[in-house]
Amino acid sequence: MWFRRDLRVEANPALEAAAALAEELRVKVVPLFVLDPELVRSGRANRMAFLYDALRSFRASGVPLVVRFGRSDDVVVSASEEFRSAAVVCTGDFSPLGRARDARVAQRLSAVGLNLQTVGSPYLVDPGSIRKGDGTPFKVFTPFRRAWEQYLGERVSPRRPSKIVSASSVPWFAGIDLERSVGLGDIPQTPAGSSKVLPRATEGAAWSRLQAFLETNLHTYDAGRNIPALDATSRLSADLKFGLLHPAQIVPLLEGGGAGASVFRSELCWRDFYADVLWHRPETAHQPFNPAMEAMEVDTGALADERFDAWCHGRTGYPFVDAGMRQLLLEGWMHNRMRMVTASFLVKDLHLDWRRGAAWFMEQLVDADVASNQHGWQWTAGTGTDAAPYFRIFNPVSQGLKFDPTGAYIRRYVPELAPFSDREIHEPWSANGGGLFGGVDGYPAPIIDHADERRESLARLGALKHAEMSPRPA
Ligand code: FAD
Repeated sequence: MWFRRDLRVEANPALEAAAALAEELRVKVVPLFVLDPELVRSGRANRMAFLYDALRSFRASGVPLVVRFGRSDDVVVSASEEFRSAAVVCTGDFSPLGRARDARVAQRLSAVGLNLQTVGSPYLVDPGSIRKGDGTPFKVFTPFRRAWEQYLGERVSPRRPSKIVSASSVPWFAGIDLERSVGLGDIPQTPAGSSKVLPRATEGAAWSRLQAFLETNLHTYDAGRNIPALDATSRLSADLKFGLLHPAQIVPLLEGGGAGASVFRSELCWRDFYADVLWHRPETAHQPFNPAMEAMEVDTGALADERFDAWCHGRTGYPFVDAGMRQLLLEGWMHNRMRMVTASFLVKDLHLDWRRGAAWFMEQLVDADVASNQHGWQWTAGTGTDAAPYFRIFNPVSQGLKFDPTGAYIRRYVPELAPFSDREIHEPWSANGGGLFGGVDGYPAPIIDHADERRESLARLGALKHAEMSPRPA
């Protein structure tokens, strides 16, 4: 059983399949995890810290996990030879890199007479499973959701209680020499540069987070999810990313949760939607979904770099934006409302390429996921799916006034502004009749003027539309 983004024992169809096969063939299950250099390189400090914690706790929970460093194709093939495997089973991976890796592994395995059996996926509906009536993929969320609900209702039976309920009930191969595995104790508890406040990465901790959310915040999620100071969202994104929980475990528990549950279900659908879009159009991990937007003029050069740096470090002079960016730096996580506000600021106020911002998020986020992140960015930038119009430009001050009316969120992450009133904290430059425009006690003055940059964004969009409509030179 080759574990990847499914580090759980409960409700793991691939593990159930491996255990059933082992029973049938009267053999044992060898649990394997590969620390592929590609994963370690792209994982970044926060994700690696979370992953290492998950691996350690998985082993501590009784799974004799073999962890090996090396290229996935080399390690999976050599381990299957070493353990004289009858088959290699894993959960499907639908990301562009995961698909390419799995194709390589499958090819190498077939050369030694073995199949790579993929069972299930990290999603409620496997990417690529549903299409429009004309057979083409969905490009817009709302009709996707309708088809997704129908598919879930018709094809996915409510999960029967899982046969495997604890690590001890799996017929693990007992003769594993963990000495030959990576000693997880040697892996740093907190890799250099990782956040000190990451959540615990255990199946039990993920369940506790889920229970706490269901009891406290599900009923009011539809409204509460927009107020970053409330912490009223589930905080399950990293658990879902690494598969400590599967959404199929969550859905039955949403029954009776009212409007809050319906909106939460819709968020799980967004996760499936973006995975589906990326599955059909893998190039959109790096290219605009709407190719016409590639021609959008973006700023480069020294001033652009300086502004990018100010944005990354929460020093733009716009308190709501800076609070979001500082939450990311501190916690390796950012509230969804703030992801939209900060992304919009980078693209529409600083005129930087969305890919620069997306790369910074991928570097910092503990839940960074190529489908949700790149398409979350494209949605905000107006280059992606949905009709999210480019001219919808978030005003960083009015967003703060609306979603953080008392300034509690700003005070938490930008403490130097704490003494300002609830109103003035959103635009400290207006305090004392505007006498503070030069900056406040070490807090910078705004690096741009939102009204000017909004006009500039619209002008650039106008130029793009004009170019699109003009006849091309022969
Ligand atoms: P909740 O509000 O409790 O939602 C429950 C779950 O639904 C989340 O854990 C997540 O798995 C899923 N979900 C919620 N909103 C979205 C969404 N808009 N798109 C896709 N799935 C969603 N989410 C990631 O998991 N990884 C990312 O790298 C990521 N990058 C983003 C970048 C941008 C610019 C934007 C606008 C959004 C991004 N999101 C990403 C989506 C969303 O912000 C996070 O999933 C959410 O903030 C995680 O917090 P939570 O678990 O408390 O969410």
